Amino acid sequence: MKNIRAFVYLLLLGLWSCAPLIRQSPWSPDPNLQRAPDNNRGNVLQPGAGGCGDWRNFIPDPNDTLSIPARKLRINVHFINSRDSSNNFSPEAGRIFFRQLLDKANAQLDTNIRNWRSPDGTLVLPKRYRYVLWPQPKPGDDGMYFHYNDSLYYFVSSGKNQNNYDRKVVQRYGIGTDSILNIFIQVHPRDSLRSKTYRANGQGIALGTSLKMAGLFESKEPGTSFSSLLNHEIGHILSLPHAWSEDGCPDTQNHPNKCWTWTEEGPCRDQATNNMMDYNAYQIALTPCQIGRIHSVFHSERNPVRKCLVPEGKVLTPGHDIVVRDTLIWKGARDLRGNLLIANGGLLRLNCRVSMPAGSIILVLPGGVLELDGVKLHNAWGLPWHGVVVQSHSKTKKRGIVRELNPNTIENATLKTRWRIRYE
Ligand SMILES: [Zn+2]
Repeated sequence: MKNIRAFVYLLLLGLWSCAPLIRQSPWSPDPNLQRAPDNNRGNVLQPGAGGCGDWRNFIPDPNDTLSIPARKLRINVHFINSRDSSNNFSPEAGRIFFRQLLDKANAQLDTNIRNWRSPDGTLVLPKRYRYVLWPQPKPGDDGMYFHYNDSLYYFVSSGKNQNNYDRKVVQRYGIGTDSILNIFIQVHPRDSLRSKTYRANGQGIALGTSLKMAGLFESKEPGTSFSSLLNHEIGHILSLPHAWSEDGCPDTQNHPNKCWTWTEEGPCRDQATNNMMDYNAYQIALTPCQIGRIHSVFHSERNPVRKCLVPEGKVLTPGHDIVVRDTLIWKGARDLRGNLLIANGGLLRLNCRVSMPAGSIILVLPGGVLELDGVKLHNAWGLPWHGVVVQSHSKTKKRGIVRELNPNTIENATLKTRWRIRYE
């Protein structure tokens, strides 16, 4: 039985006679089950240490691309220029500039290297997220917009006209701000540039799920020079504090953040950093804790960032089925893209929310065990999925088992097994 290759067939009721040895029944939670005393394992209502929101439960396993899959964040970009169009990129130049910036930012997200200020042995894991330009569904819209407004084109980070926290430009020009991360590219005003104390370099500020950046046009540098600034600022949107400070991650050490580059001599030989969330020339490394925090945000139904993800787990995606053959515990929430099968000898314990794609099934095969410890099983978009189906084998007497350790809920499940599932 261990070497059985599992295949799922969705057959109509009329074909029941194809596999008479297998019986199956839909599973429903026990409505009378009481919460177990003395239980501090995770559940959907208790984010935080040890619970569903804990970053430790969202650290990607390099060998498992299915249970914490790569995510895509929808973005668009707005270039804010003065009415005489002298203070920011032209549409032609801006498009080239931003595509260069975006390509490099995504290449940096596809890469990770050892964080210089992490304890020895800290793993280097995939970041597993990228950005995708998200146009509106109308002709000529490419997700890049050019606006001309004399009162909104500038960004002032200090002094009496400071406006970096001001959201007016977001309110005026934002498009789909509840489901797309809007990036606004402004400029430092010319009179600020003349001040000796004003820092007119590449800067940014995260405002909810929007982001303002400045210093890009003025620099005359190519878009690739600002990819790490974009990744840093979006890192803030994804809940990451500066890594040099008390950021809640045990694998990022506190440090003075005084070294822009590594030098062979002097304090920057030991104090230089390459973390994306420090200020340095590299801004490439993310630690397992930082990556876990980002994926915790992606899985949090309460975080507005989640709505900016491309909804890839909405419907069943071929090639994303997960077959559990050993013991596996998912302490964090999961947004699956395929069916979930627990095979003979496999045990899967769920501690949090699990979203199943529309049309999918959780199938507990004979000899498989599913343990549910205060879980919500649902489709995160409210679409119907088939629910949990348990199989038993009439000849071997083996059966699938669903064990409830704490009260569970199941939503959007049709539980109408009008079809039968057969494995070979
Ligand atoms: Zn920052």
